[in-house]
Amino acid sequence: MHAHSISSSSPRAAGSPNRPGNRAATGVPPGPPEDSPKAGGGTAGSPGTAARGRNRMDMRQVVTDRIVAMLEKGGHVFRERWTRAAARGVPRNGKTGVPYRGANVLLLWEAAIEEGYASNVWLTYRQAQSLGAQVRKGERGVLCAHFERRARDGRGDVDGVLPVGGAGEEAVAADSGARAGVLMCLPFWLFNAAQIDGLPLEVVDLGVAAPTASVQVPVERAIRLLGGCNATIRHGFDQAAYLPGLDEIRLPWPRQFTSAEAQCATALHELVHWTGHPDRLNRCFGRRFGDAAYAFEELVAELGSAFVMGHCGLVDATVEGHAAYIGAWLQVLRGDRMAIFTAARLAQEAFAFIVAREMPALAESAASAGGA
Ligand SMILES: [Zn+2]
Repeated sequence: MHAHSISSSSPRAAGSPNRPGNRAATGVPPGPPEDSPKAGGGTAGSPGTAARGRNRMDMRQVVTDRIVAMLEKGGHVFRERWTRAAARGVPRNGKTGVPYRGANVLLLWEAAIEEGYASNVWLTYRQAQSLGAQVRKGERGVLCAHFERRARDGRGDVDGVLPVGGAGEEAVAADSGARAGVLMCLPFWLFNAAQIDGLPLEVVDLGVAAPTASVQVPVERAIRLLGGCNATIRHGFDQAAYLPGLDEIRLPWPRQFTSAEAQCATALHELVHWTGHPDRLNRCFGRRFGDAAYAFEELVAELGSAFVMGHCGLVDATVEGHAAYIGAWLQVLRGDRMAIFTAARLAQEAFAFIVAREMPALAESAASAGGA
């Protein structure tokens, strides 16, 4: 039961200035298109071998198909998996330390859960070699996507390559803009630290999840996020909802939830919707309240709340009083190859917006003072 923010202003990537550092933030090492296919093809059994000829593969479709496959496992399955993965933190590059973003985060989380990797650290085949380490023979890399803008005349390899930040809205703009050039979605392959022999210890240590989530009670952490955002929350309603017109979160009475964790999880889901208000991240997906726009905002909220709940350690909590929209999301994703990239980026922006406002914990300062 969600209304979401629809505004008449034109869509824009609010809240995510394209910082100079964004090239690195895509998590791609310099020169990835050349580096990457070798990274995949170089080891036996890598999916890269099937995808040679980097422009032949429709990467947007490949990534969309993978995410759709995850969603088709059902709401509880992917929600639990992604929240659990999120509790270990965002995957990062072992050489640069830069976190991955957008859809790549989902692809890496899924691979980590599927294969049981404990580490958050990922490297290309070449990066591992450059650190004096070696991807073990037979290991399969995880296919990720990287966006790059090329001049329209096709000779843009030299002067037309413009890195694109989070992969999403910019891409849509590029597709519709005549002079912007062609936005290429290129594959690269990553290997988990667990697939690599001989990594320096400091790289391995990067992958050890920060213990913050487990140190504190998840509910307390959720309350610090909710309190820090200072959203208007009213109780006593049948269903959980965010009303953009009133800029108000509505929840059932606390005693109607099956647990404090479920109450927090539900409130956090609505808080992700709350970040989309025109005064905040201004998520606007269309001028009318269409089914597709509605389903898209739900997908953003679902992904965003997985990030937020993972951050809090609310891994077993269920979002209650909330209809399942999976069928509608799947339709959106199947009908638009860019949708998952944009949704994942917007979800990450919402997560960053919420976490930036987290109230400090007394326990943290007390603990550090006591330890010193
Ligand atoms: Zn919702």
